[in-house]
Formats: sequence, structure tokens, C-alpha cells
Amino acid sequence: MLSQEPTTNVVKKSRYNYQLSEIIRQRAWVEIDQGALSHNVRQLRAFLSPSTELMAVVKADAYGHGAITVAQTVLRSGATRLAIATLGEGIELREAGIIAPIVVLGAVNNPEEIAALCHWNLEPTICTPQQAITFSKTLAELEQTLLVHLKLDTGMSRLGTLWHQATEFVTLVHKLPYLKIVSIYSHLATADDPDPTVMKMQQKRFEDAIHQIKAMGIDPPCLHLANSAAVLSDRSLHYDLVRVGLAMYGLYPAPHLESTINLKPVLQVKAKITQVKTLAAGTGVSYGYQYISKQDIKIAVVSIGYADGIPRNLSNRLKVLLRGQFVQQIGAITMDQMMLDVSNLPDVEVGEIVTLIGFDGKNSISADDWANALGTISWEILCSFKHRLPRIGKRLD
Ligand SMILES: *Cc1c(COP(=O)(O)O)cnc(C)c1O
Repeated sequence: MLSQEPTTNVVKKSRYNYQLSEIIRQRAWVEIDQGALSHNVRQLRAFLSPSTELMAVVKADAYGHGAITVAQTVLRSGATRLAIATLGEGIELREAGIIAPIVVLGAVNNPEEIAALCHWNLEPTICTPQQAITFSKTLAELEQTLLVHLKLDTGMSRLGTLWHQATEFVTLVHKLPYLKIVSIYSHLATADDPDPTVMKMQQKRFEDAIHQIKAMGIDPPCLHLANSAAVLSDRSLHYDLVRVGLAMYGLYPAPHLESTINLKPVLQVKAKITQVKTLAAGTGVSYGYQYISKQDIKIAVVSIGYADGIPRNLSNRLKVLLRGQFVQQIGAITMDQMMLDVSNLPDVEVGEIVTLIGFDGKNSISADDWANALGTISWEILCSFKHRLPRIGKRLD
């Protein structure tokens, strides 16, 4: 039989579409609803005063949603700037032809990176006087000027010059050649906490520092402090610009902020059933037999696993949606596959689609549900889906 098959690689014209763009829908994928994304940006835009700019935070591949398409959609929907964490993330957006201002939130310290910032027209965050001096020297050699954003540490204890040393820092940068200050900003540590005490303390430190900087005759063109939680919790934190990540992707930073604006989740995770069978009572399922059937059960194998970013810690605790109903996952989640107990849906077939995060009929499962089950935050869940899962547009059928 086999020896009679044609030996050439040329595929005969067939009725099947074997292009990668079709094949990626065959196993498991992340579905991105650009309409929901656009809706969220418009909701945020309407919530902000017209003079406050919306900077879309698209770091970490837009929280796992796909940075390029997300950037294109949010810029069309009302965002005017983009923020990323790493130089590589900025270059990816520029290579895709995006021309909006891009701020690098992470620290950049060495001359090669500084030269790349110039080449790709990316705006760095300057965190210390030493870093500012390195920048100015390198830029002198390159004969280039960079637009820069200065970071103050008002209590996050991460990047930035401490608020009580802000005046010296900003005065130095102001005097250095080749650096042009675009904004001064800080980041909040507890904006999602219903108790605003720490946030208000940080705001006061920020305002005191800015007051002193202005007293030195320096007038920063743009001030910003707010992430998603701060945007939704206190309008006095908006200033000239807000840096929004999570809310844009349709999730609320904390339960007490759910009544503020209407957000729609953008990301769904789906996979297909690849085999269905009946197991006798007393049969072990998956590695380690963490699950043993109590009676005869019908199981479905689903083609998604921890190598796709499904946390193995959810084994035996995960519920998924199939035909609009909640179905229990059973046994250890494996690298590429997992099993479901579909005893209540005896006519389930190979090829049916399972929703792990998202909507099916009246029911839904959110990244918050997973975060709560795992003792983590929805930000980490969104960022955890691997590149093996293609990001595809929402299907209209
Ligand atoms: C990631 C990040 C944001 C966005 O935070 P969200 O809570 O997702 O809105 C804002 N500012 C800085 C400095 C960040 O690193």
C-alpha cells in the first residue's frame, strides 16, 4: 500500500484547506474579540475627562492578547499612546508599522539599548541620575535627542528616584543635553485595595514633589500616576494621562470596582475534543491516578494542557463549558491534553469545542475564577497562555 503512494511532496489539489491559518483552529486556541476591546477603550475614554490622555499598556504581548492587533485596535478606539515593558516589545510594534508614541516602562541602561531606542523612536523611562548621565553621554556620541519620561518612587519601592530626592533628579535631567522631558510619573502599590490610605499617601508625595519641581522653574508637560484600579477608584488620580492595562482587556482590578464602568472580557480559551469513551467503574484516569471513577463514566479527551498554559494545579478542580453546561475536568492535567467527565452529555462527539475561559450560552468562566481558585491575580492568568495557542479573531458563526 504505502509503496504505491506518490513519493513527491507536491500536494494534489484537494477539498481540504491545510493552510496554517485553518489548521490553527483545529486543536486549541485563544480567541480575541476586537469588538470587546474597542468597547472597553471607548468606555474608559468616556469615563475620562477629554483632556486626559489614554495610554494603552500593551506589555507582555498585550497581557497575552497579541500586542500588534491590540495596539492597532486601541489606537483606533481612543488610546493615543502605547506603553510596553521591554525594548524588544517596542521594536515588535515598530516593525509592524505602528507610529504612535511608545513608552518603555522598564529600565534601559546600556549604550546598545540607548542606540536602539533612538533607531526605533521609543521613549524610555529614566529612573536615576546615573542613568540620565549615561543616556546623555551616549546620545552626545550619537548626536541624537530622546524624549524621556522620569520615574519617581513614591512608595512602590520598585523603579524610580525616591520622592524626597525628586527635585535634584529632575533638575539634573532638565539641564542635561540631548534629553527632553515629556512626562514625570509614579506608580501606585495598592490602588486595588478598598482602603485608599496608602494610595493617598503616594499621591501626596507625588504632588509635593511636583510642587517643588515647579518651584524650581521646571514645568513638566505631562503628569501621570494611575493604573486601571486608580482610574476606576479616584478621578483626582487621573492628571494628564492614565496608564491602563487590565481594564482594557475587560477585567476589573478588584470586586469593589465592578460598578464603575461596563467592561467586556476580550480573551477566550478554547480547545477541541479528540476522543470520547466509556470507562468502567474503578478505572484510574491520567498520571498518578488522582481520579478513579466511582461508576461507569463517559470521558472526553481535550487537546489542551499545561504546555499551553493551563495550570496543572487546577487538575480535578477545573470546570469547563461544553454545550453551554459546566463539565468537570478529571485526573491530572497533562502537557498537551486533559480529560473531562461527560457522563451527563452522553452523545458528545469528537470535534466539539470546549470553552476553558469565556462564554458558552448563558454560562461563562473568567480569568478571575481561575485566579481565585489558584490564589493569584487575573493579570497572571492572562499572561500565562503560551504561544503554542494561536491568537485568532472571534468567529462570527
Ligand atoms: C503594567 C503597568 C500598568 C498597567 O497596570 P494595570 O493594573 O494592568 O492597569 C501601569 N503602569 C505601570 C508602570 C505598569 O508597569
